[in-house]
Amino acid sequence: MRGLYLHIPFCSKKCIYCDFYSLETTHLMNAFVQTLLQEIELRAPLLTDAQRHFDTVFFGGGTPSLLSVEQMEQILSTLQRHFSFEGGAEWTMECNPGTVTVESLAGYRAAGMNRLSFGVQSFFENDLAFLSRIHSKSEAVEAVEAARKAGFDNVNIDLMFALPNQTFERWQANLETAVRLETEHISAYSLIFEEGTPLNAMKLRGEVRQSDEDDDAQMYEWTMEFLANNSYTQYEVSNFARTGRECRHNCIYWQGDEYLAFGPSAHGYVGGERYWNARSLKRYTDMVAANMLPITNSEVLSEKERMFERAFLELRSKGIRLAEFQRDFGISLKTVMQPLFTKYEGENLLHIQKNRISLTPRGYVLCDAISADVITALEHHTGAAWAKGVEVALGED
Ligand code: SF4
Repeated sequence: MRGLYLHIPFCSKKCIYCDFYSLETTHLMNAFVQTLLQEIELRAPLLTDAQRHFDTVFFGGGTPSLLSVEQMEQILSTLQRHFSFEGGAEWTMECNPGTVTVESLAGYRAAGMNRLSFGVQSFFENDLAFLSRIHSKSEAVEAVEAARKAGFDNVNIDLMFALPNQTFERWQANLETAVRLETEHISAYSLIFEEGTPLNAMKLRGEVRQSDEDDDAQMYEWTMEFLANNSYTQYEVSNFARTGRECRHNCIYWQGDEYLAFGPSAHGYVGGERYWNARSLKRYTDMVAANMLPITNSEVLSEKERMFERAFLELRSKGIRLAEFQRDFGISLKTVMQPLFTKYEGENLLHIQKNRISLTPRGYVLCDAISADVITALEHHTGAAWAKGVEVALGED
């Protein structure tokens, strides 16, 4: 599968925890859309026919729902002109409740979008105020209802746990509300104190305290059990979907497949090369205006780096596909890792199936430690160290 990511770098207001690149303004949006179209036109002729064909498209940000329907139509028609798309391709856009109406969502649907991802985070006003989200609880519920009226049958909501002062009961109530809304997909993330964010500065000044790790683990374990009991299948550490409703775009990242990326700060992975677009809108705009691709950095991954990355990302999601791993890297993981896998299976942390090694719910709780052990064992076997971390150009969904 191949994906296409577009980064829309504008938000009405910056959330205190967010380290995605976005500007708190909308007056540059018209000019930005023209630059984005130009970037697509610069890039498309440099690709092979196979590289111009996609299964998924994902608008992240930032807040793509700040784009008008006309702007979205313009972008989609430019994509259609330069690229080809699988029949039934997944077209997702991230939306902020508080920025959408039934009319605007119907317009996006008519333009070709078929999946929405709402950054809800919480259904409690005090959590939303703390996180500096622009929407209220009722706007979050209304946004999902508006999506249904606009004809969307594939909707995700993002929720956050491990917020300072969030009780277990409040988290339970959040998930219960989400399940009542019957969205096809729920992403449940723990709040991360990212360096450089206002939230982290508040922590360093002693104004907020990170929640207790044991409490977080308890919330997470309850989340997995509750969502499983409500017919949501977990297919990644933080992602749960009804049958057939997994986010196909995110699966592309986790399977090590290729994705093309447009917009400031976007990352792509094409032909074994990972590339980064200029992060600042000004630099991005200047480069495209000079008819240059706005790429500021790239790296070709070695076979061993691809192997480590594949093991790491697949283990965190649906599990490592053993035959594909052996085909691509010449290593039988079942043989090489047998003592480790057997130990973890005995501790109910891993399922060992014919062609897949995957985490159990208990394994998901200890995912970081298990991944580290698997990578260390791989390093030991191959004699190579995995120096680089994995950075994937994801939105919240
Ligand atoms: S979390 Fe989403 S809405 Fe908030 S600032 Fe970041 S990109 Fe914008």
